[in-house]
Amino acid sequence: MKRENYFRGGIGFKEEVVEEFKGYYESKLVKKIKDSGGLYKVGNVTIHLAQEFGFCWGVDKAVSMAFEARERWKNETIWITNEIIHNPLVNKNLKDKGIKFIELDENGEKDFSPIQKGEVVILPAFGASIEEIALLEKKGCPIVDTTCPWVSAVWNRVKHYEKREFTSLIHGKYKHEEAVATSSRASKFLILLNIEEAKWVSNFILNDGNSKEFMEKFGLSCSKDFDPKKDLVSVGLANQTTMLSSESLEIAKLFEKTMMKKYGIENLNDHFKSFDTICNATQERQDAVLELVKEDLDLMLVIGGFNSSNTTHLKEIGELHNIPSYHIDCPERMLNSNEIEHKLLNGGTERTENWIPEKEILEIGVTSGASTPDNLVEEVIHRFLNLQKELGVMS
Ligand code: SF4
Repeated sequence: MKRENYFRGGIGFKEEVVEEFKGYYESKLVKKIKDSGGLYKVGNVTIHLAQEFGFCWGVDKAVSMAFEARERWKNETIWITNEIIHNPLVNKNLKDKGIKFIELDENGEKDFSPIQKGEVVILPAFGASIEEIALLEKKGCPIVDTTCPWVSAVWNRVKHYEKREFTSLIHGKYKHEEAVATSSRASKFLILLNIEEAKWVSNFILNDGNSKEFMEKFGLSCSKDFDPKKDLVSVGLANQTTMLSSESLEIAKLFEKTMMKKYGIENLNDHFKSFDTICNATQERQDAVLELVKEDLDLMLVIGGFNSSNTTHLKEIGELHNIPSYHIDCPERMLNSNEIEHKLLNGGTERTENWIPEKEILEIGVTSGASTPDNLVEEVIHRFLNLQKELGVMS
């Protein structure tokens, strides 16, 4: 694509949008809590804020570039390929600025047909597939590419495997945009959701499993014409940047052992390669929650879009440590002091009653995913404290 039609590092309007951006997403309260070491005591409630949470560098840059694009192309039509990041509030803010979002058709595929030649298209932080980029180039659209460098580092890894004729085993969610974009860079791939699926595949390799059964299980999450007998001889591990890092490591170790057992330790390099592609921001937020759960918490509020993979894993850590953990995307999910609506790990939502324990002193953990702005964290804290006031336990 011609250089003048492709914007990757920036658009040159950062200065113009910096104050507006802060006005949308910064929070004085959150800054105050951070400055106090992460603790905020009001009445009988102590809020423990994770040491790392909220907007990561990649998200900050992607949203800021979308603001810049609006500033630069004031009168042009601008599109985003589905969502800039996985946060409904941020996506709504961009819609309110007149940016259009590519809708999904009845098959769940993005419908690019309304985009006209010359209209500007923003690619999200989690990237876009090779096919999508080719289609937009063909239409002659200026492209604002906000793909996070951590995501493109995974693509490089997958391309490295491809050159060596290794199949990419990607720990991720096969419908997630990032996994779709990553897998589009590999001609042979298999996407594994979790350690259970990885164990299944390991058994298949070691025990010469049944291909038909394999395809029934993984037909939707592998490359076209995948042949499990031939395509699982040499495998390279990669992951969606936002998965649970401990699980990614477990999967990598499992396949290392599997290939050692199958082909012998002396031949391991010809059959197994691995590289940790969990991004720093995801790792830091998970580590911070691992610290947070050491506190004697009564419950944890995990704030982030319901389709945000990294937020889901923060809740998962809370649950693994037996702390009632509620994944909410906005303060209104705390319906009242008796009932909260929240996302479950399996993807559904649930209403839980009596979610605030009746105790004189409450210790509440708060964290948020990498696509959650601080202003939303502030609103959640305010709402929680207001519900406590309604209960009459706070003055
Ligand atoms: S979570 Fe990681 S990969 Fe995703 S945008 Fe942030 S820094 Fe980049």
